[in-house]
Amino acid sequence: MGIEDREAEGRFDYIIVGAGAAGLSLVYRLNQVGLTDKRILLLDRAPKTTNDRTWCFWEVGEGTFEPIVFRRWEHLAFHGEGFSTVLRIAPYRYKMIRGADFYRFMAQWLDAQPNVVRAYAEVTAVESEDDGAIVRTRDGQVYRGAWAFNSLLLDPPARRPVYHNLLQHFLGWVIRTPERAFDPQVATLMDFRVDQAEDTRFVYVLPFDAHTALVEYTVFSGALLARAEYAQQLQAYIHDCLRIADYETQHEEFGVIPMTDAPFPERRGARVINIGTAGGCTKPSTGYTFQRIQRHTQRLAQALKATGRPEVAAPLLHRRYQLFDSALLNVLDTRRARGRQVFTELFARNPPQRVFRFLDEDTTPFEDVLVMSSVNIPVFMAATADAMRRRLSASCTARRGL
Ligand SMILES: Cc1cc2nc3c(=O)[nH]c(=O)nc-3n(C[C@H](O)[C@H](O)[C@H](O)COP(=O)(O)OP(=O)(O)OC[C@H]3O[C@@H](n4cnc5c(N)ncnc54)[C@H](O)[C@@H]3O)c2cc1C
Repeated sequence: MGIEDREAEGRFDYIIVGAGAAGLSLVYRLNQVGLTDKRILLLDRAPKTTNDRTWCFWEVGEGTFEPIVFRRWEHLAFHGEGFSTVLRIAPYRYKMIRGADFYRFMAQWLDAQPNVVRAYAEVTAVESEDDGAIVRTRDGQVYRGAWAFNSLLLDPPARRPVYHNLLQHFLGWVIRTPERAFDPQVATLMDFRVDQAEDTRFVYVLPFDAHTALVEYTVFSGALLARAEYAQQLQAYIHDCLRIADYETQHEEFGVIPMTDAPFPERRGARVINIGTAGGCTKPSTGYTFQRIQRHTQRLAQALKATGRPEVAAPLLHRRYQLFDSALLNVLDTRRARGRQVFTELFARNPPQRVFRFLDEDTTPFEDVLVMSSVNIPVFMAATADAMRRRLSASCTARRGL
């Protein structure tokens, strides 16, 4: 059946709900693997017109979105507890993609893809039905497809006490100084030289050039701060740590990212696959999501190309990383150790490349042991035991249907 026939029939092969990082990455990858004969609907509430977020991540070599990488760094500063260093991270590079550049790039690329239809409406339901998926919008439209890929948080994980439910929340300012104030070759990954209060707090400094940088005050904790506090802390850091008195703020970004070991459902019924944050792509212990979205959407596209079905189960051995994430969340949540201390131990006692591989879930079991033994072992053993106990209790509760 050709594209026109399916259009007449009103049914799509794939419906992608949400045209943010995950939805756009998926549609791009579907066409890249050669599924250009599939009729795809891309739905969002509105076209993306603002620079609503900045994505940073580490990567070896060139990635799929290399042409729109705004800045890349081979050196990262880290300031921890009694420990400051500049890490040489080759062959990795720490990269930044601005949301506005990503959305513009994708909009231009989509203009040239005849198999993709874009539509804008508030989506109210995404459900599986017998042999496909059905999507409803507030204005009464009903779309049907063989599969739907959903990036809306329609069923966020329940905040049950057996899970850790932290948030990563941050306020970032792009500041510009009249004097040279930044080394454009070195980004600051974590600067813990800020008051930790009762949680984990640090600052990123991502220089665009000698005069301009994104400075982001970040907190890992159970609840948000009052909005004014982020600004106060950011001002104090710029003044006291960066020693900058004179600057203008060019752009502001605020964000909240879930840091939880509560499972995000992979599917909504048989024919709706969750993607992005809604599909559990956020690394619970760090909040990094962008590269995990890339891996997930690439695997979905390859599976669809190979088998016609989006089946991408992770190998069993890979599940160990879920336990590692839970253990770190447990340490932070129960304050068995301070986050500043844990991250200092990680970066002081491991090469950064090993830490990145560990966070990317690419380490060998031997490397896992090296990473584990670099942090406070009794603290992490207690946290792991507690995390396992909670996991067991969660699965017993689920089995009892509670
Ligand atoms: C400010 C900010 C900065 C971040 N920085 C980083 C970073 O540096 N590195 C990193 O790895 N991760 C980062 N993240 C986390 C993560 O990468 C992003 O949140 C990412 O955008 C998640 O992709 P997504 O597709 O799941 O969600 P989104 O990109 O938010 O896309 C969801 C889409 O669904 C649409 N939508 C929602 N509800 C409806 C509805 N009812 N009807 C129709 N459309 C709807 C929205 O308009 C949106 O376009 C950041 C997050 C934020 C908020």
